[in-house]
Amino acid sequence: MIEIENVHKSFGALQVLKGINLTVDKGEVVSVIGGSGSGKSTLLTCINGLEPIQQGRILVDGTEVHAKSTDLNKLRRKIGIVFQQFNAFPHLTVMENVTLAPRKVKGMSKRDAEEIAVKQLSHVGLGDKLKVYPSRLSGGQQQRMAIARALAMSPDYILFDEVTSALDPQLVGEVLDTLKLLADDGMTMICVTHEMHFAREVSDRVAFFNKGVMEEIGSPKQIFESPQNEETQKFLSNVR
Ligand code: ADP
Ligand code: MG
Repeated sequence: MIEIENVHKSFGALQVLKGINLTVDKGEVVSVIGGSGSGKSTLLTCINGLEPIQQGRILVDGTEVHAKSTDLNKLRRKIGIVFQQFNAFPHLTVMENVTLAPRKVKGMSKRDAEEIAVKQLSHVGLGDKLKVYPSRLSGGQQQRMAIARALAMSPDYILFDEVTSALDPQLVGEVLDTLKLLADDGMTMICVTHEMHFAREVSDRVAFFNKGVMEEIGSPKQIFESPQNEETQKFLSNVR
């Protein structure tokens, strides 16, 4: 379970998160929507301790992320994160890209790591691309590789930050299908997304962010069909 309690985050004088409260239960899929600059990405980087916070706390399975005593490396093994831009190692094959962290971070044997990599790459539909270099993959395939790489660490949570935003429109569907597959498998996910269709179909709850404030959260039906907050209404009328 991820518990976000009254989190305030600033970059210098700029207040980016202004008291965020959100609990994500095991197996839950929460989509985060909202305009550019509203603090969505920052929230994700705070959850896995990449960024300090000024007030409040974040607990992952009861461990306080920003406590001095917390072993961040250990914590981050539980939390996968997949970004908008593909950050594959170009000189490594797909298989090597996916086995790298399990071998280096978890100390797995080559054989064990490869077994997991084959399983996860097959799962995302790349079972026939093991020996290929990332430059030979389409954007959608690269992004699915990034998802397989996160899955290979057997995380309990995965945070997705606009993973389809850099893709050509015809490639978006295959990546969203992969996310849907994970959701159906029961993975706990926070998905920052511009894909309202996806947010609506796949999420258990949708949170709307505006200028560092979570203005509204509810079921997809509630948020998309009868948003209560004026800012949510404005945002949705613009993206539709
Ligand atoms: P979103 O993902 O909703 O578009 P972000 O979380 O990326 O928003 O950014 C929120 C605000 O914080 C923006 O004004 C952005 O410019 C600022 N910001 C983000 N990261 C940094 C940083 N590392 N240093 C300074 N300002 C930042
Ligand atoms: Mg962002």
